[in-house]
Amino acid sequence: NSKDRYLPEDWDHFHILLEQLLHRVPHLGSAILDRLCNGPEAFSPDCKWIVGEAPEVVYLFPHFFCNTIRHYLVAAGMKTVGISAAGGVGQLTAEIIVNGETSFDMYELEVSRFLGLHNNRKFLRDRVKEVPGMHYGLSYPFHEFQTGRNLRMSPVYPKLREAGAVFGQVMGYERPTWFETRQTADGESQDWSTPYRMAYTNTFGKPPWLDNVAAEYAACRESVGISDYSSFTKIDLWSKGNEVVDALQYVCSNDVDVPIGSIIHTGMQNKYGGYENDCSLARLSENHYMMIAPTIQQTRCKVWLQKHLPPTVTLSDVTSMFTALAIMGPFTRTLLSELTDTDLSPKNFPFFTFKMLDVGLANGIRTMNLTHTGELGYVLYIPNEFALHVYSSLIQAGEKYGIKHAGYYATRALRVEKFYAFWGQDLDTRTTPLECGRVWRVKFDVMSKMFCYLNYSFAFQKKVDFIGRDALLKQKEEGVKRMYIQLILNDHCHETDLWPWGGEPVYRDGRYVGMCTTTGYGFTFKKQVCLGFVENPDENGELLRVTNDYVLSGDYEVDIAGIRYNAKVNLHSPILPTKYPDKERDVYQATRDKHDDNIVVKAIK
Ligand SMILES: Cc1cc2nc3c(=O)[nH]c(=O)nc-3n(C[C@H](O)[C@H](O)[C@H](O)COP(=O)(O)OP(=O)(O)OC[C@H]3O[C@@H](n4cnc5c(N)ncnc54)[C@H](O)[C@@H]3O)c2cc1C
Repeated sequence: NSKDRYLPEDWDHFHILLEQLLHRVPHLGSAILDRLCNGPEAFSPDCKWIVGEAPEVVYLFPHFFCNTIRHYLVAAGMKTVGISAAGGVGQLTAEIIVNGETSFDMYELEVSRFLGLHNNRKFLRDRVKEVPGMHYGLSYPFHEFQTGRNLRMSPVYPKLREAGAVFGQVMGYERPTWFETRQTADGESQDWSTPYRMAYTNTFGKPPWLDNVAAEYAACRESVGISDYSSFTKIDLWSKGNEVVDALQYVCSNDVDVPIGSIIHTGMQNKYGGYENDCSLARLSENHYMMIAPTIQQTRCKVWLQKHLPPTVTLSDVTSMFTALAIMGPFTRTLLSELTDTDLSPKNFPFFTFKMLDVGLANGIRTMNLTHTGELGYVLYIPNEFALHVYSSLIQAGEKYGIKHAGYYATRALRVEKFYAFWGQDLDTRTTPLECGRVWRVKFDVMSKMFCYLNYSFAFQKKVDFIGRDALLKQKEEGVKRMYIQLILNDHCHETDLWPWGGEPVYRDGRYVGMCTTTGYGFTFKKQVCLGFVENPDENGELLRVTNDYVLSGDYEVDIAGIRYNAKVNLHSPILPTKYPDKERDVYQATRDKHDDNIVVKAIK
């Protein structure tokens, strides 16, 4: 009964609106009152609509499924704009019903952006009381919810809090954004009972955390920074035979059949060549991989994998089993060497490889020689019970190297300046590797392994197929219609001007050509850095091919709140000057257009 869904009349609440209404439409004063209908509106925990297919669908194999609610589509949480939304939401829902997919890029709205915790009734009751305020409030950059906090925390959380961490929340996980290192007024030493600090920016100009982040950034580039990466999605994939290799070859666009101990970065494309996921894969053994994916992909990429993997491949979400600590900076190799007997020299443990290390008294630490920000460093995936021990050992041994905690705002600044794209911020389900300088990570020409039987090897090799290959090949032939670029603002004053925060229009030779995705202050460039995509529309708005020449021959401006700032354009990750250059790192450019070397294979040799 829809009447049960009405709330009691609330005239006091309505009075404010009524006054304004009568002011605007005085005639309403003579209208006869029939009834006051007080109907609740539906809000989701993050103030965004909820659409798409319920993730609780478990496919055993494409076209076969078990014990599931397949084709259960959601269109809810429409808040106060459900009528305006109806056209688009209706279209995408109809497309999913008819075609099994939609033409919209809508990962931000999909129901698979949630985890089980988002179904907790107390969480929902607390959070949804806060959400309508956000809907109507002024939305500052990096908004944080106040409710539903201190829910998912890594084992080193108390230590980070003691060290001054100011937390942001992603997928319910508390993650340090920056560290407040100022002493308390009375000089009292901090301890873990220190008040919980929540991240805030509350401005569109120079943020209050800039100086703290600058110091953390400097540590990562010139000494040692330590960050908690525990929220990242971690998935183990294995099989008895080599089924996992074949399955991942099909699901991933990069070549996963790399030597044991190698790590590759790869996209998982859809049939349009767009990124359903962007991840690192470490080959732990012949038929066992560990996947590291963005935090927000914990449900979503699992659903994609479950839809496409055969039943012979086992998938296990190990996100909550491992604490991930990243150490970044020129002294990290020396520091980690003090805590392990394994030879960490580049010859024995090269860039983009994996080793199972003993660290301090602990063992079984899955250690990856990469950092996601381009610095020399390692990410240690530590079984939770060893996390505090490993963390304390690193902090203790790192003291003489000037180890410093670094939060997400510092690592973000590092990766924006290094021109590294992130899924969910720069990459989405409609962006292809060719558009974002990653064609070198696509296995267009990789041949399947020779099939050997009884000492005969068969010569019917063929190119390895993968989802999206046809679309990408076509795009390779026809050229791209948008391209990922880095813009360095020339005449922007970071002290007094409003900052770019993403979404700013980009102009080329005075014409609008695209928008910024992510932005950050480049502490080495000492300039604002904007990442984004540019197009090449003709006079009728028809999109033409975008070439390197087109990009490099234009004069660029970025519009921030109505003021246009001149910008220098980059197509490749820049090499940033440092006091401690590192040969291995310096040749690596995350964003580039040529497959000029194969770092993994070279490194392994
Ligand atoms: C007072 C008010 C003013 C609004 N003003 C605007 C506006 O100006 N512009 C705008 O864009 N949006 C506005 N909205 C929001 C908009 O009306 C909603 O977002 C939109 O109607 C939501 O559509 P829906 O289909 O998701 O849900 P609903 O419209 O709520 O439809 C759900 C239907 O499901 C039925 N139902 C529920 N449970 C069951 C069950 N178990 N079995 C069978 N049927 C069931 C309900 O009876 C209902 O008919 C307003 C909302 C309110 C309350």
